[in-house]
Amino acid sequence: MKRIIIVGGGFAGINMAKTMYDNTAFEIILVDKNNYHFFPPLIYQVATAFIQASTISYPFRRMFQKAGNTRFHYGSLTNINAEKKTIDTDSGTLAYDYLVLAIGTETNYFGMENVKQNALPMKTIDDALRLRNALLLNYEKATQSTNEEEQKALMTVVIAGGGPTGVEVAGMLAEMGRAVKEKDYPELNGKKGDIYLVDAANTLLSPMSSKSQKEAYKQLERLGVKILLQTSVKDYVDHTVKLSNGVGISSQILIWASGVVAKTVTGLPPTSIGRGKRILVDAYNKVLGTESIYAIGDICLQTSDGKYPDGHPQLAQVAIQQGKLLAKNFKNMANGKELVSFKYVNKGSMAIITKYKAVVDLPKGFYKGFFAWLTWLFIHIIPLAGYRNKFALAYSWFWSFITNDPVLRLIIRPTKTKE
Ligand SMILES: Cc1cc2nc3c(=O)[nH]c(=O)nc-3n(C[C@H](O)[C@H](O)[C@H](O)COP(=O)(O)OP(=O)(O)OC[C@H]3O[C@@H](n4cnc5c(N)ncnc54)[C@H](O)[C@@H]3O)c2cc1C
Repeated sequence: MKRIIIVGGGFAGINMAKTMYDNTAFEIILVDKNNYHFFPPLIYQVATAFIQASTISYPFRRMFQKAGNTRFHYGSLTNINAEKKTIDTDSGTLAYDYLVLAIGTETNYFGMENVKQNALPMKTIDDALRLRNALLLNYEKATQSTNEEEQKALMTVVIAGGGPTGVEVAGMLAEMGRAVKEKDYPELNGKKGDIYLVDAANTLLSPMSSKSQKEAYKQLERLGVKILLQTSVKDYVDHTVKLSNGVGISSQILIWASGVVAKTVTGLPPTSIGRGKRILVDAYNKVLGTESIYAIGDICLQTSDGKYPDGHPQLAQVAIQQGKLLAKNFKNMANGKELVSFKYVNKGSMAIITKYKAVVDLPKGFYKGFFAWLTWLFIHIIPLAGYRNKFALAYSWFWSFITNDPVLRLIIRPTKTKE
């Protein structure tokens, strides 16, 4: 048995491991810094107290309970020793025959240190829970404040980044603000904060069609979101968001949904690192300049696919398709068959704007409104790991959408015990 170490159990890593489930020619070790897989597209719903974190997360050990060839190692990759064919993690050194890197990206603050220190990113479950606590705590503080300016700053949220995540979180905050604020915080009646959505581009949802872009703008404006395009965040100090147009917005929450950069991996040849720190791979996802190391998903940059000469977009479908194909290619390798080069099949993209309103771009068309919204819900339930999670999510949505009053607005902050 040859040993494949897959580092990172995101969309790319778990789809590869699941496709190798019954491949007895290989032993698989899945390494992740968390003991669970999670579903990033729904993180903003955890952050806005709409669904529970456990609904979009699933433990790796449970996922691979019945896979005889797969083991899980809890640890964070720290270094690769390509010559010795080992990796170092913060919980030990592991030897491999083949190494697959699938550790994705991290938030990019574009070198703005204050923003990094003070803004709240939207990338992981930890980020979502921190944001949920901050939003709820600020409302509690606003009820106790007697200073109107401070109250407004506590209820004002600035979102940097008008991509799908920024649009979705802006729509949800506007909707929830309307539905929940008056019921939960009667002390604040007649007082309100603003929701700003800021983007350096001249449109929202820049990777999507112009019809989707216009619809998102129209619906968010209708909800009262203040959209600032061709504007970027330059600094965030003393609870003031400083913008490129010279304006400062008093806000105690800056949500950073503005960009990602590939995670740094030490031990690879410097020539194998490309744009955005992404790892350069060939048509079969093998890292350039290495023998037995592969990279899949957001972390890699592959320019061999004719339709995507500048590399693929960093999307779930690319990661899933690369993970599955690499698993099949390992099987082909074991059986002495020819390897298949990666070609991304674009199945479309979508964004939810608010209740009953979404936009869907298909390779050959666009639709919006209620049916787009239903499509969005359906498409986001299907890939969720575990039947319990699928049912829990469907039930949470049903309850939250009909009552407009989800019951998850809990400020839970684990404290350190003495021990
Ligand atoms: C908020 C948000 C919303 C999104 N919405 C959409 C959407 O609607 N549609 C869409 O197509 N795409 C969306 N994306 C992008 C999509 O999530 C990514 O393209 C996809 O997750 C990439 O998969 P991946 O497996 O390459 O990386 P990831 O899913 O990021 O997985 C990386 C894995 O590696 C682990 N890891 C990281 N560092 C280490 C380390 N040092 N050691 C060990 N393990 C490590 C992490 O714990 C994680 O499990 C969204 C992303 C975010 C952040």
